[in-house]
This record gives sequence, structure tokens and C-alpha cells, in this order.
Amino acid sequence: MNGDIEADYIIVGAGSAGCVLANRLTADGKTRVLLLEAGGDDRPTHNLGQFMSNLMIHTPVGYSQTLKDPKVNWLYTTQPDPGTGGRPHVWPRGKVLGGSSSINGLLYIRGQHADYDGWRQLGCDGWGWDDVKPYFLRAENQERGADAEHAQGGPLNVSDVTETHEVSNAVIDACEQAGIPRKADLNGEDQEGVSWYQLTVKNGQRCSAAVAYLHGVMGRANLRVETNALASRVIFEGKRAVGVAFTQNGATRTATAKAEVILAGGAVNSPQLLQLSGIGGGELLRDHGVAVLVDRPSVGENLQDHYMMGARFRLKPGVISINEMSKGARMVGEVVKYVFQRKGLLSLSAAHIAAFCKSRPDLAGPDLQFHILPATMDLEKMFNEQKMQMEDLPGLTMAPCQLRPESRGHIRIKSADPTVYPSILANYLADPLDQEVAVAGLRWCRTIAAQPALARYIDHEMNPGPDLATDEALLEYARMSGSTLYHPVGTCQMGAGPAAVVDTQLRVIGVEGLRVIDASVMPRLVSGNTNAPTIMIAEKAADMILGKVAASLAA
Ligand SMILES: Cc1cc2nc3c(=O)[nH]c(=O)nc-3n(C[C@H](O)[C@H](O)[C@H](O)COP(=O)(O)OP(=O)(O)OC[C@H]3O[C@@H](n4cnc5c(N)ncnc54)[C@H](O)[C@@H]3O)c2cc1C
Repeated sequence: MNGDIEADYIIVGAGSAGCVLANRLTADGKTRVLLLEAGGDDRPTHNLGQFMSNLMIHTPVGYSQTLKDPKVNWLYTTQPDPGTGGRPHVWPRGKVLGGSSSINGLLYIRGQHADYDGWRQLGCDGWGWDDVKPYFLRAENQERGADAEHAQGGPLNVSDVTETHEVSNAVIDACEQAGIPRKADLNGEDQEGVSWYQLTVKNGQRCSAAVAYLHGVMGRANLRVETNALASRVIFEGKRAVGVAFTQNGATRTATAKAEVILAGGAVNSPQLLQLSGIGGGELLRDHGVAVLVDRPSVGENLQDHYMMGARFRLKPGVISINEMSKGARMVGEVVKYVFQRKGLLSLSAAHIAAFCKSRPDLAGPDLQFHILPATMDLEKMFNEQKMQMEDLPGLTMAPCQLRPESRGHIRIKSADPTVYPSILANYLADPLDQEVAVAGLRWCRTIAAQPALARYIDHEMNPGPDLATDEALLEYARMSGSTLYHPVGTCQMGAGPAAVVDTQLRVIGVEGLRVIDASVMPRLVSGNTNAPTIMIAEKAADMILGKVAASLAA
């Protein structure tokens, strides 16, 4: 085929994975890469509206704004979810250079070593902890310095918070009193513990995948980045992917890939694009008038996400939480501090304290994570509309999530039109184990709050509220008041057998010249936030592809 643009590799999506790939694949100065991104540029611009959105991207606290900003966010809505009282959920996903890493909560967590060993046991040879660790290290610039678990010199900056907070310190003490060990590093060998989060922040500004991997190489002659370019389908000759059709500024265009097409559109879009391109369940595709190239019902299935609930506590009058710091004169002081020192409230992430613990003592490792913030917001607005609105009185929120849910949902096209969002069913809390762990997570919040170090700051429990004492009542609360922790994965699962969509080289099964490289290939959700693991996947995949480049150049 002859497209408008010719490249060796076409990458669809400039998110956490796509930015890594664009950088690594063009490093030789010769391999031609076309990077297509449906959203816009994240760098400063003359358009005032976009300028403000981009400012919010790069200022860590701007997270609260980009969560609901359609200029940089797809803002999907899931189907009404039977496990959450029929409530649909708003799913923010980044739609801009950097993808979801441009709007995420900036928390740096890798998960447990056992997660990756578990992938290997599922048949993903080459993806055990020892295999993936070098790629976490290659990505990382750890400001604390290098040690056995961490590295310096990589593009992704990992830093500590620039200031602590009295109530947050009390939370750490309380966790310790409750039996959760205080740890300096939650990304080491044993995850169980409590600590301040480490952040993907550099000099007080967001270090997204675009900042880390893309901005510095956009001048490479062999890298072409097209923004506002929505890929609508992969073009095949027989069963070989040879290009991509996309729309840009109202025009339909095509691009030719001499080597491969790589889908990096994330866990929602990559399966949608496969389905639009004829790879998916035959019945689903026929229902929507898409010609079936490969009948593979597993495409879009196996959807997993972390479900986050909120336990809120009213702090005693006079205690200072973020609720007061984010208003009036105190906020002005924080803005000044940020402008002149890049420190303070505006440089901080979506949560301050992380705790990992077990729902039952007999478990080998933690199955619960807590995102803890000395602030309270309207939970209904937060969970139903993704609006973060701080309350006036002082408060503390502990948000537990189960780390390795058993419930599975799916992504399925609703139309052959690529601009129509697919149907998303998260299926939260469908599995009995997930229900049990959710209840245990809420009970842990109470246990932590009751410890002397924290109890002296707490006036009363607002939610779930002391009246909700039984497991049934707590489960009902969990169903009615939680939502996404923004970690959908698994919809183009890596492995072998009928459940797999890609093989362990991330090649789409049943066709040639096509890979998926993003969070969707994780066979099981990892025990933590998913940005660093997705960057690791892309780092490793780049090496796999570069091996192939060497082979094909020699041939
Ligand atoms: C609000 C939020 C908070 C989060 N907080 C954290 C956190 O604190 N820590 C953490 O580790 N993880 C966090 N995550 C999760 C993490 O950011 C994601 O798992 C990770 O970024 C996923 O990377 P990806 O490459 O799979 O997809 P994405 O980064 O989402 O990238 C996909 C890209 O592809 C583009 N695209 C999609 N379809 C098309 C198309 N058809 N044509 C062209 N381009 C297309 C999108 O616009 C996007 O730029 C958060 C996510 C969100 C949304």
C-alpha cells in the first residue's frame, strides 16, 4: 500500500508505553517511526484554554482539574455496574501527549515481585521478576540514589515528597501501632508496610512519559509525531498489518508501516481498535458490520481494575488538613511557595501515604493498598463525577483497594464508527473474594484510625459511619460509594491458549506485523499503580523489537 506517510513502525497512542517506544525505536537515528496521538500536544501553546489545561498537566496538584477536563481526557463512562448498585462509572484516561501518565496521580509503585513471577507461571515466559527488573531499573532515575532495587540515570524521575504533614505522620505512626511496618521503600523486596509515596515528579513538576521520553527527542529526523490523529483501523494485506487509517482535522489519511504496526492506545482503545480492524469475537464484529479477519473472542475480555472505596474521618477543630490549606490566604501562600520554590501543596500527588497490608494474616503478601490523604471531599461527586471538591472542615480520607481482584469485565465495540466509545463493563465486586477483601479494607481503616497516634486527631468517623457495623452493611457501603482507581488492564492479555490476544513477544496472535504494547497486555493486574509497570513493559518490548530490527536489517 502507499499511504500519505511512510514509516518503518507506526505507533498508535503517545501514552506511557507509546512515548517509551517512540524514544527507544528511534535512538539509532535511522529507524523511521510515526507516532499517532488522538489528543493534542502537552507543551505550552498560544491557545489560552489549552495553555491552562497543559499548565494543569505539569503542576502536580492540577491532577484534580485534568480528571474532568475533556481537552486532555477521554472521559469514558462504563455501563451501569451490577456490583455497584447499577451505578455507571466515569473513567478518566489521558488524551494528550503522555496519555494517562499526563493526568495520573503521580504515584510510583511497581507491585510485588510475585506479580511478575505469577505472569511467568501463567505461561508468560520472560516476564518473571528477574526478567522485568532490569527494565524497571533502565527506566528509573531514583533521586535517593542507586541501590540493589533502584537505579539512577533513566528518564523517569522518581522523587520524595518535598514536605510532610502532621496528620500524615500520625497516620504512619498509627499504621505501625496497628502492625503495618514502617518502611522507607515500598518498591523493595517485601511490599508490606507504610510510607510516604514516591512520586514521578521532577523539580516540583510532573514527570509524565512525554516529559521523560518524548519531549527531548521530538527533533529527531526519524521520528514524526502527529497529534489530533485518531487511528480508526489497522490496514491489512491478507493477514499482514501494513498500515493504519486515521482521521486528522476532518480528513481521512493513511500511513504505511514497512516493519510493524504497534498499538499502544491503552486498555480501552487497543482492544477497540483490534475489534474495529476485524480481530475479535466473530459474533460481536458481525453484529456491528465489521468484516472478521481473525475470530478471537478473547479480545477485550479479561478486563481488571482496582476498585477504590473511601473511609472519611472528621478531624478535631483546629487540626490543619488540606481542606483548609486549599482555601483563602493559606492557598495563596501555597501558590507563592510553589512559584518560587516548586514545593508545598501544589507539588504533591493524589495521595500522600501508602500502606500495603493483608486482609487475612495467613496470606503470603499484602492484598490491600491504601491511598491516604489528609483531606476530605464530597464522595458522591468524587466517585460519580470525578470532581474533587474539598470540604471546609478538617478531614482525613483512607481509600482501600483490593490489589488482585478476581472479578472480570470487558470492552466491546458498540459501533463500527471509531468515534463511538466502546461499551465498558468493569464488573466491580462481582467475585465473592473481592467482596470479602473490600469489607476487610474498610475494617482496616477503622483499626488504623483507632490507634492512639491518630485517634487523638479524630473527631468522628464520617463514612462508612459507626452505624454500619456488619459485613453486609459494609459491603453495601462499598458497592454504593466506590469507583475506579484508574488501573484498567488485561484486555489484550499476553500468553498462550484461547484467552490470550498477544504472545509473549506481544505479537497479536493470528496475524503478522502487529503488536500491542501497553497496559492491556498484563495478564493479571499487578499489586499497585500501573504507570511504572506499563513503562517497564514498553522498555522490554522495545528491546524485543530492536532485536528484530537487527535481524531484518541483516537479512
Ligand atoms: C486519573 C488517573 C490516575 C492514575 N494514577 C496513577 C498513579 O498515581 N500511579 C500510577 O502508577 N498509575 C496511575 N494511573 C494509571 C497509569 O497512568 C496507566 O496505567 C498508564 O498510563 C497506562 O498507560 P498506557 O500506555 O497503557 O495507556 P495511556 O497512557 O492511556 O496511553 C494511551 C494513549 O493512546 C492514545 N490513543 C488512544 N486511542 C487512540 C487512537 N485510536 N488513535 C490515536 N491515539 C489513541 C490516548 O489518547 C493516549 O494518549 C492513573 C491513571 C489515570 C487515568
